[in-house]
Parts: sequence; structure tokens; C-alpha cells
Amino acid sequence: MRLLYLRPLMDKKTTQIVKELLVKPQNIVVVGHKNPDGDAIGSCLGLSFLLNSLGHKATVLMPNDFPDFLKWMPGVDDIIIYEKETQKSLDILEQTDLIFTLDFNSLDRVGDLQKPLENSKAQFVMIDHHQQPAAYAVATYSDVSMSSTAEMVFHFIEAIGKSEMLSKEIATNLYTGIMTDTGSFRFPSTTPTTHRIVARLIEAGAESATIHQNVFDTNSAERLKLLGVALNNLNILPDYNTAYITLSQKELDEHNFKKGDTEGFVNYALSVSGVVFAVIFIENKHENIVKMSLRSKGDFSVNHFARNHYSGGGHNNAAGGKSSQSLNKTVTEFISILPRYKDELTHAS
Ligand code: 5GP
Ligand code: MN
Repeated sequence: MRLLYLRPLMDKKTTQIVKELLVKPQNIVVVGHKNPDGDAIGSCLGLSFLLNSLGHKATVLMPNDFPDFLKWMPGVDDIIIYEKETQKSLDILEQTDLIFTLDFNSLDRVGDLQKPLENSKAQFVMIDHHQQPAAYAVATYSDVSMSSTAEMVFHFIEAIGKSEMLSKEIATNLYTGIMTDTGSFRFPSTTPTTHRIVARLIEAGAESATIHQNVFDTNSAERLKLLGVALNNLNILPDYNTAYITLSQKELDEHNFKKGDTEGFVNYALSVSGVVFAVIFIENKHENIVKMSLRSKGDFSVNHFARNHYSGGGHNNAAGGKSSQSLNKTVTEFISILPRYKDELTHAS
């Protein structure tokens, strides 16, 4: 069944290049970004199932570990984590003809995997929805209007004429990627096309209720208590329609913090009536940084804000960054920057 789309998808030239790259069986590595989220894992696994069923040998490689609430996804047990299996990762990269990079726009987003990727002789294909894609790939499918990279993998599969290969495993992974990156289909990047694709994924075997349960109803009591601490630390700056949350290393340690436990906390700050800009500051004493997640509503671009002040980036309404100052100093500096954005923050729609 062909779907009706409202906008052009992967262009003809990119499609042609990719088809030629995939004419004969290839050793392929599919890479996601550091601190992989549901979209990175879902798009990489979905694509790797497709490539394997087309007769290629595809391996998913992630820079570092990912949260437990994603560890039920079909194929997760075969993911290689560079930080844990460095030599094996390097050996696989050595044997690779083709590297797909998914859900990131620049090779500095893969942490310690950056050098091995830069040194690789393989050809690269990029599929991504972040702004300002770097030019390292022979085929770049970049579309910043897309809800998620997982949605783009669906379009990719259609473009190369392989929609009949959509299996339950592919559908479940792509559904999870789209669902997590759209906040369960509520962010403005969710289009009618997104919903049509989601319907197709459900028809192909993705179980919507089960996927939601697996991702959202598997909290530990410690994580919920940490959320309590975060909500207690919520600060509102009404003059700037801004809210922020802090979590210190001590608070994380007291709640046996595990990767992914703070996922989504920043959205509570953004849910305060009238707030258009929300930030969570999370102290990381191991890396000696404060990691920040920034979110906005309307026109205020957290991508620009994170790029300008916190060596970060992302999308207009969701971005990340970091600071090498102490937690207190990071927050004080953040507050001191806000007056420069007062107009944008108070007139943002
Ligand atoms: P999160 O706040 O959920 O970690 O990330 C939000 C968005 O910003 C995601 O699209 C993520 O890829 C991007 N992002 C997070 N941290 C960084 C960073 O340090 N640098 C850049 N360029 N993007 C980031
Ligand atoms: Mn994404």
C-alpha cells in the first residue's frame, strides 16, 4: 500500500546513491549518538533489522550504555557498546564497508567513538533530523522538520522500495523511536504523516499499549523519589517565563541514580503555566561537568541558546549542553544571561 504524503521525502539523488551502495551484500555498522535515547536506539535497531533482512550484515554500535527502560526493545541484546567492548568495536569497524550514522548531525556527538569513525575508510550515510548537518557522508538524508529519526527510517524504507519488509521487530523499534521523541505524539513536530506512519507500524505488529508500558511503567521507587527531589528543587523566574531544576551529585547518589533516571524531569518545569523556557542542571562529578537539558515552547530556540552558551545544540524546542563550572556557578551564570533574552522570552508565542 502506498501512502499519501504531504511533503517530499528522501530525495531521488540520495535514494539512488543509497540503492547503489546496497546493491551487493555489505558489512554495515549502524551508529547512534552518545547517551542514546529511544529514537537513537529505535531508529538504529529498526534500520539494522531491515538491512539484515536484505542480506547485509548489520551491527548496531553505540558509544555508551543506555537506560534500562529501553532494554526490552527487539534486538537490544546484539547492540555493541563501544565503552564496554572497545576492541571488539574497533575490529568490527575495521571490517566495515558502510557506516550509517543515525539521530545525530556531527561526529563530535559520539564521544570517544569520534576518532575511530573519522579514521574509518568506510563510506557514510547520515539519517538525521537535527539542525546544521555536517558534511561527512556520501548520502545525507537530513530533515529538521521530522518528528524523529525513526520516522525518517520509515521514509527511507519506502524510498528504497522495501516497505513490504516491514516486520514486527522493525515496527516496534520505529514506533518506540517516534513515540519517545514526540513525547507520545504531543510535540509540534508530530504531523498527520507521523500519525499515518504510526498507524502503519501498529498494523505491522507494534503493540502501542505494551510499548508505552515498557517505557513508562517500569519506574523504580528510587527514581520516583529522585523526581520528588527534583520537583522540590524547582525554581520559577516569572520575569523571564523560565523555570529550572537542579540535581546535585549527592542527590543522585542518595537515590542510587542510574542512566535514564532523570529522563523527562525537565518537562515538569516546562509544564508550569506561563513557562516557555525550562532547564534541568544535572551535576556529573565523574565527568566534571554539569549536563543540561533545555526545553522551550513556541519560538524561543533552545538550540541557539545551547550553542551560544553551553557547547551544545539540538532542536528549536529541545536541546542539550554542558558547563565545566560548579553546579552553583552554572546556575548563577545562567540567571545572569537571561536578561539578554528577556524580549524573546516574554514575547514568545
Ligand atoms: P536531551 O536533553 O534529551 O539529552 O537532548 C535533547 C536534544 O538535544 C536531543 O536531540 C539531543 O540529541 C540534543 N543534545 C543533547 N545534548 C547535546 C549536546 O551536548 N550537544 C548537542 N549538539 N546536542 C545535544
Ligand atoms: Mn531524535
